[in-house]
Amino acid sequence: MIKAEWKAGEAAVVGLGRSGVAASLLLARQGVRVYASDGGSDATATAGAAKLSAAGIDAKAGAHDLERIARAVVVVASPGVPPDARPLAAARAAGIPIVSEIEVALRALDGVRYIAITGTNGKTTTTALIGHLLRTIGKRVADAGNIGTPLTEIALRDDRPEWIALELSSFQLHDTPSVEPTVGVLTNLSPDHLDRYASASEYYADKALLFRNASEKSTWVLNSDDELVLAMADGVAGAHRGFGITSAGAEMTCADGEIRWNGSKILSRAELPLLGDHNVMNAMAASLAVIAADPAYSSRRALARIADGLRSFRAPPHRLEIVGERGGVLWINDSKATNISSTQVAIDGMTRPTVLLLGGRHKGEPYTALANGLRKHARVVLAYGESAPIIEQDLAGVVPVERLGNDFAAVVARARALAKPGDVVLLSPACSSYDMFRNYEERGAAFRRLAGAA
Ligand code: ADP
Repeated sequence: MIKAEWKAGEAAVVGLGRSGVAASLLLARQGVRVYASDGGSDATATAGAAKLSAAGIDAKAGAHDLERIARAVVVVASPGVPPDARPLAAARAAGIPIVSEIEVALRALDGVRYIAITGTNGKTTTTALIGHLLRTIGKRVADAGNIGTPLTEIALRDDRPEWIALELSSFQLHDTPSVEPTVGVLTNLSPDHLDRYASASEYYADKALLFRNASEKSTWVLNSDDELVLAMADGVAGAHRGFGITSAGAEMTCADGEIRWNGSKILSRAELPLLGDHNVMNAMAASLAVIAADPAYSSRRALARIADGLRSFRAPPHRLEIVGERGGVLWINDSKATNISSTQVAIDGMTRPTVLLLGGRHKGEPYTALANGLRKHARVVLAYGESAPIIEQDLAGVVPVERLGNDFAAVVARARALAKPGDVVLLSPACSSYDMFRNYEERGAAFRRLAGAA
């Protein structure tokens, strides 16, 4: 239920992107007065303001009225707005509660069953898999949150789904006090976003907010191979259910080439159409989350459907996505690998000599952690973009490193020149894309296009 206090004043929605627009419409529909604003005046913000104005909501692109925001009863922050942005700083200084659009949606969707997925890597893949598996067993499911569709958009729809697969970033968890999933999944933990957090422990503290409303009724699906995950969940109320490859005794395991639940085969490893052991982990996390969601979903029939779903799932774009093979060279787009640990699993998953495109905007972690995998699999590293000098310094003496500039077409051309038949050219940059692209999708699309050009 929408909080009564919110109806007593005005809610300020910061950001006029897709989620800001949906959150504004949802609040207005629930009887809350809304002021929505965006500091920018690009096409998205202007269109968002126009759409809201047409619905009778006070919305402006191009500037925030900070004094008005400081008088709001609640501020709804869009996911892309950094915590130190002026409107949020103004709200914080005035003691106004700041919430995510997820919080607004959860209040409107009171009582809906949802599986929440967080962790450093594998969130989107696991979320998409959970949605796919639940659909394969015949449920009406919405995939929402960080994966793409704002949860407020789902809440605005006339029909309520039976289930929601909800991907949550650490930033979204920070501002979602009502989070209380039917099943919560923690995929893995390693340092990330050191550009936005003062330390790894601050980042982990936000991840731990997945458990903030844990009770005896809760169910947690946990990576049993990950010490940090186990330590974070230690002592948390509710059922703890584990998946893992290396740890003994997990409920969902992969051994002797089989993915098994409680010792019984679900699927042969070879039937899973995804590259790399990390994707076996994602497949196990998703299957266990679905099995744990409802006692009916572990019937013999449901388990057979889950196996069918694992067979028919395809990797989402930009995640170790094969984009072509030319002249014996395989081109793989892993543009979504925006931190060290995700690039590490990509390199470890390679079975051929690899020309690796590494670079972009540096996020703070050293590249030295990639050394072992690179020694095994890399022919050469092409370091490009803002982080190129740091990469060159960190990896000097480990593998051949060529330092290039920020002309992405030239980087891809150099990769083509260096790759030999039988090699892989892998874009797995371990950096954000913001020095050269609008986002990782644009970077992956550029790679796909350049890889396909003769
Ligand atoms: P997220 O949504 O958490 O960013 P994705 O599913 O989009 O995760 O995958 C992003 C990248 O992270 C992939 O391209 C892959 O390189 C890496 N990755 C995916 N799953 C895992 C995992 N379970 N463990 C480690 N790295 C992973």
